[in-house]
Amino acid sequence: MIPVTTFKGKTVALFGLGGSGLATALALAAGGADVTAWDDSAASVENASSAGIRTGDLHNLDWTAIDALVLSPGVPLTHPKPHWSAELARAAGVEIVGDVELFVRERRAHAPDCPFIAITGTNGKSTTTALIAHILKASGRDTQLGGNIGTAVLTLDPPKAGRFYVVECSSYQIDLAPTLNPSAGILLNLTPDHLDRHGSMEHYADVKERLVARSRTAIVGVDDSFCERIADRVERAGTKVVRISKRNVLADGIYAEGPRLIFAQGGATRVIADLSLIQTLRGAHNAQNAAAAVAACLAVGIGEDEIRAGLASFPGLKHRMQPVGRKGGTLFVNDSKATNADAAAPALSSFDRIYWIAGGVPKEGGISSLGTFFPKIAKAYLIGEAAPAFAATLGEAVPFDMSGTLERAVQDAAADAEREGNGPVAVLLSPACASFDQYKNFEVRGDAFVKHVAALPGVSMLVEV
Ligand code: ADP
Repeated sequence: MIPVTTFKGKTVALFGLGGSGLATALALAAGGADVTAWDDSAASVENASSAGIRTGDLHNLDWTAIDALVLSPGVPLTHPKPHWSAELARAAGVEIVGDVELFVRERRAHAPDCPFIAITGTNGKSTTTALIAHILKASGRDTQLGGNIGTAVLTLDPPKAGRFYVVECSSYQIDLAPTLNPSAGILLNLTPDHLDRHGSMEHYADVKERLVARSRTAIVGVDDSFCERIADRVERAGTKVVRISKRNVLADGIYAEGPRLIFAQGGATRVIADLSLIQTLRGAHNAQNAAAAVAACLAVGIGEDEIRAGLASFPGLKHRMQPVGRKGGTLFVNDSKATNADAAAPALSSFDRIYWIAGGVPKEGGISSLGTFFPKIAKAYLIGEAAPAFAATLGEAVPFDMSGTLERAVQDAAADAEREGNGPVAVLLSPACASFDQYKNFEVRGDAFVKHVAALPGVSMLVEV
């Protein structure tokens, strides 16, 4: 745990006790703050009380005596409308911060030079965060991994010289971290998402920009117009910017030429990493993630050989285009996280011949946007509620089976792929659907896929079952 010493002796109100909220309350109390915490859920309040946190309805506080309101990132700060606790704080002129801000202040107070890499973007945050942490760990660095990826940042070990932090930040966390100042800040890409919570694309982009604006080195993917403008603006303001592209040649920066990452500086270019043999980093989207990871590791002083070794041994993230088994020329790939058509597109674009398992609870629009990939699909295996609608979309274009269950789909896809011969082919679970009709969540669905693959005769598993 990181005790929040910068709030020692201060009076703090905290709202939001699910997820990281309780860890934040405990870290504040451990640092000597006087905390009162609250939540709409009685169970969360009860849980915090039994952990020794003072709880109480924040309506009843004397807000003139409060030094800060600490909000959980899940609680609306601005859109669709500010939470009542944020309104109370604003009316009393009380600052509003989140756990990432508390971490940033602790780092500044105790180890301002310890390397801190922060990652944001619309897509690829977790992959890039996990990849960077893996490269650092593999090179023997003391590495702390947390933030939006799942481990509350204040549960990590305290900042000290030589300790590396890799922290994934959602827009909500950035919005609550006004002095966020990473050694290396990554903004991967920006596409419309979560606009319900941000009001407009401009505001969403504005929040994301803050992560790189105060970075010592700003690493920005320049394949969309919002990020392109942000890179220019941040550079004009005097920050060192490293541009990343998954598709365009850059005069300066790191760009992908197919699976090769090219380092360009002052007109000279050289290959800095080759991803072609790395199964866990397939596809142009992963080239973007890997290029950003390389730039960040270089920025905090990691050697190129160490970076290449880390890339090569990256195990991938569970449920995100994760290679889980192999039999002859057939690779079995778990992309259960793809819960809509947009999320399935990167996986479908990353393999040349695919036995595709899809279905579940369909999202609006179904799979009609995926038509450009249909020629690569040897056969589809449809499961769950979406099966009839997906069958209608595939029509004559793609042969399909109404498999019904995931188990049946895996068995039939494996048999058909084997019949085809030597491959290389992928049996890909990338469902383009939510899982709730058959599974509790996408993780349980992905784990079931792995189990069914492991049950096939003659498969070598690439992951533990
Ligand atoms: P996030 O943490 O931002 O949600 P993840 O790393 O968990 O992103 O990846 C989720 C899915 O998003 C992946 O399965 C893949 O389909 C897609 N994806 C990953 N990286 C990128 C990227 N750089 N650009 C676009 N899509 C991506």
